[in-house]
Amino acid sequence: MKLNSIRFKISVFYTVILALILGFYTFINYYNLRYALYRDLDNDILVKAQEVSSAINSYFEVLGNDQRAFDFAVRKVIRLEGTHPNQAKVVDVDKAWLEKRDKQNLADAYINLAGLDRGDSVVCSPNMGTAMVAEFLSDIATARKKTLFYKDVNLGDYQLRMVSIPFYYNYKKKQVYLIQIGVSRKPVFNILYGRLIFAALTIPLILIIASFFGGVITDRVLKPIMDLTRVASNITYKDLSVRVKAGRGEEELKYLVNAFNEMISRLDESFRYIAEFSSNVAHELKTPLTIIRGESELALMQPRDVQEYQRVVKVTLEETEGMLEIVEDLLLLSRLEYQPAAFNFEPLAINIFIEEIFEQAKKMAAPKNISVKLANADKPVIIKADAPHLRRLFLNLLSNAVKFTRLGGDITIKVQTEGKKLNVAVTDNGVGIRPEDLDKIFDRFFHVDHSDQSGDKGTGLGLSIAQSIAKIHQGDISVKSQPQKGSTFIVTLPL
Ligand code: ADP
Repeated sequence: MKLNSIRFKISVFYTVILALILGFYTFINYYNLRYALYRDLDNDILVKAQEVSSAINSYFEVLGNDQRAFDFAVRKVIRLEGTHPNQAKVVDVDKAWLEKRDKQNLADAYINLAGLDRGDSVVCSPNMGTAMVAEFLSDIATARKKTLFYKDVNLGDYQLRMVSIPFYYNYKKKQVYLIQIGVSRKPVFNILYGRLIFAALTIPLILIIASFFGGVITDRVLKPIMDLTRVASNITYKDLSVRVKAGRGEEELKYLVNAFNEMISRLDESFRYIAEFSSNVAHELKTPLTIIRGESELALMQPRDVQEYQRVVKVTLEETEGMLEIVEDLLLLSRLEYQPAAFNFEPLAINIFIEEIFEQAKKMAAPKNISVKLANADKPVIIKADAPHLRRLFLNLLSNAVKFTRLGGDITIKVQTEGKKLNVAVTDNGVGIRPEDLDKIFDRFFHVDHSDQSGDKGTGLGLSIAQSIAKIHQGDISVKSQPQKGSTFIVTLPL
């Protein structure tokens, strides 16, 4: 798999997005869980502290509220030490406390009773060392301000969560104590670590699996493109008949495949056109060349007189001129098609321009006694045009009109403006065009030999040149014709 392949990019993109989602999800989840675990832990130690507080009070209820009872009760509850002179009285309380203590799991808890005013420890559970007691007492100032506070105690291996609640004894003398209880945070850590390790193991696994399937899916999606590539790389000009089959389902790829197939069709058409065009060119040039060769061979067979040589040279010259004309026409056509920038567009007064064309048309029509009429535009019209080529366009149309009109016929030139368009119609009452030829007459080299017409045979380039000139002027030529009645060619140019 290449680094800049679509497959690789999609796989990476897909995997990164999935990793971000999973990472974010894990993060949120972790913090939610952590919050919930701490909340539960805080509730739990608060309950424990309240139990301790109520256990001490239970002894007071039985023993009365004096200093001796206090000393006994706190030691009994926190350290399970000491016996009372009136032991019989407290048997039930002891029993009840032991049960509570088991139920609340207080054996593992760190319990301290601190004097709030003096800031010292009155009694603490046997599992607490001096360092831990000092740590418990270190926030006594905060405890003075609050009735209840929590803190994390970190002491070497011990990582505890602690709560302090006030405990009032001999309230009138304002002796206030704090019951402090700490429990290990290890269970919370264990759950959280477990979660992290689970995420750390599963996320990469999920990503590997996802990127694998991402790759498989990308391959499937890209398969038609690979097919297309394979077909494309096998196409040569010799075989443009191949087409790609569109796969099932993939709507977007169908467009690509269709566009590709259409492109091959267009190429196919262009290649056919070029082949036909070359053969037409060859054909058009072959006839004059054959004539020149034949005449020259004949002249060289035996000595001839000067007139005969002159005739041969004249024929050669005429045929060469005909060939030059074809070559020049072809060059003009290719310039019209591929170098439209080479043409020079300047404002042109159409009325005067058409007047000049009209004069030339009359000269062209005179030998066949054809009358030419002009209906010029009623107001002056200016367009942007390349005058020499526009002249060529109209002279081509008019020479055709003369060529295909019988002796004594009529030709009319009519100029009209219509909205943002200028229409120039050239109408003759000549031989007309057969309906089946109408859409071919603008093709290169298409011409019909009219046996009844004398004069030049034509090369079939005239109308395609005219049409190309109209096109570089953003215009068009259309034709209407009826066989034996005549034809009208309408040149439309933008104003
Ligand atoms: P060419 O005049 O050299 O034959 P064109 O490209 O000018 O070539 O014209 C192509 C064909 O269109 C002509 O051979 C002719 O059959 C037809 N055509 C063009 N103009 C006319 C017209 N005015 N009347 C009848 N046919 C025409």
